[in-house]
Amino acid sequence: MFLADTRGGQDKPLIQALLKPASPTHGLYTLKQIPKLDFKKWINATYQELATHICTALGLKGAMLQSALKRYNVFNSIAPLRILNPNLALQELYHGPTLAFKDMALQPLGALLASLAKDSQEQFLILVATSGDTGPATLASLAGLENIKVVCLYPSKGTSLVQALQMQTMDAPNLKVYGIEGDFDDAQSTLKNLLNDPEFNAQLRAQGCSIGVANSVNFGRVLFQIIYHVWGYLEWVRLQQSSCGEAIRIVVPSGNFGNALGAFFAKEMGLPVAKIAIVSNANDVLEEFFNTGVYDISHRRLQKTYAPAMDILKSSNVERLLYALFGHERTKECMQGLDTHKRYTLTEGELEKLQAHFEAVSCTDAECLDYIKQTYKDFNYLIDPHTATAFKALESLKSPLPSVIVSTASWAKFPQTTCLALENKPTMDDKEALEILAKRGIVPPDSVADLLKKPPIHTEVLKIPEISSHIKAWLS
Ligand SMILES: *Cc1c(COP(=O)(O)O)cnc(C)c1O
Repeated sequence: MFLADTRGGQDKPLIQALLKPASPTHGLYTLKQIPKLDFKKWINATYQELATHICTALGLKGAMLQSALKRYNVFNSIAPLRILNPNLALQELYHGPTLAFKDMALQPLGALLASLAKDSQEQFLILVATSGDTGPATLASLAGLENIKVVCLYPSKGTSLVQALQMQTMDAPNLKVYGIEGDFDDAQSTLKNLLNDPEFNAQLRAQGCSIGVANSVNFGRVLFQIIYHVWGYLEWVRLQQSSCGEAIRIVVPSGNFGNALGAFFAKEMGLPVAKIAIVSNANDVLEEFFNTGVYDISHRRLQKTYAPAMDILKSSNVERLLYALFGHERTKECMQGLDTHKRYTLTEGELEKLQAHFEAVSCTDAECLDYIKQTYKDFNYLIDPHTATAFKALESLKSPLPSVIVSTASWAKFPQTTCLALENKPTMDDKEALEILAKRGIVPPDSVADLLKKPPIHTEVLKIPEISSHIKAWLS
């Protein structure tokens, strides 16, 4: 199976694209054709069986796939559905090792990258910049693997304590984690500069090491994010005893648009999805795009919100959507517009095509806190701040479709915001927040309690100019 380049470059075999996702056109590799699948046949399949069917249809199969899917054995539960009422369910995607949905794709992808590195007898260095959830999930997936090293950068003041500890306490010789004095964009541009640094590249070559990528540039992330949307639908049919074929709405709290893109591919494969609802926070560039056809970051500055994993302006997976709907020439044109003018505009016809699949809303921080509080009151059920934003869609979108909200993280990753929502009280840090919540009988999963007791190993915080020399020194 070959993947296409979104900007018209040469196709690349899937396996090659997973190992080396960089494209000479600076485009992204993505599905060339989208196969139609008859999901009804798999109504009684297990998650692994369903994943095998879908991945095989997309060209990934055999022993390598099976060992990747074995990673789901470490999950407490795989993407279960919680029915809230006859028209509404939440799909809990956060039962993996780091309590956010990033585990759903990064766990199997890590296993795949390790087998590919072993087969090709190459060493890979994986560089990750994270705003909080991707870092822990990548480290957890790649810890202790042969032929792979990982360097992870996070903004030292930009994550929750729980997220920071998930990285700082990660103990394996092939992992290195640095806090940086800067924000997520600084972390990301530092890594980009490093990739273009001739001295750094020469050093890697001398060590027989290639750069690997586990961020959303890697199509593997999207691949494994198709499966749970299909699983969610089949669970809906099983649990609600509705007829297989009845269309639903999938509501997705969105940032980099990977999760929603997985839903789009599932829909294109034939899953009965009437609409995919995109939810933004105050950084509502996606909401504007899907409602007006204008993608415009020229007048925007990134705002910090209670849903930090959605604090993104350049939502990179949108490029794959443009390719799927409008082809590579138009995609290239739009991406060039974004680079040079920081904006592009769809035609009316294009917008219509977009809106045949998507709806969009945005949610403020105040509303986010309200939804956490209200859901706890109505259902005795605690949602995280990202999941909370999705409830705005139920309120704003009037057509009465049965809806599945994808729940992207456990509340326990964001104790301070949870405490603020329930108690209306700001706290010093996550520890204090967890103590206050415990008095109400709200306790986090064991893994979070354990984290707070573990000694941090990676405690270095670097200034931006220091980073590259530290990485070089660690590698040698
Ligand atoms: C990454 C993340 C998101 C955003 O997902 P995208 O695929 O980037 O749109 C939402 N919620 C949480 C908790 C996340 O970690």
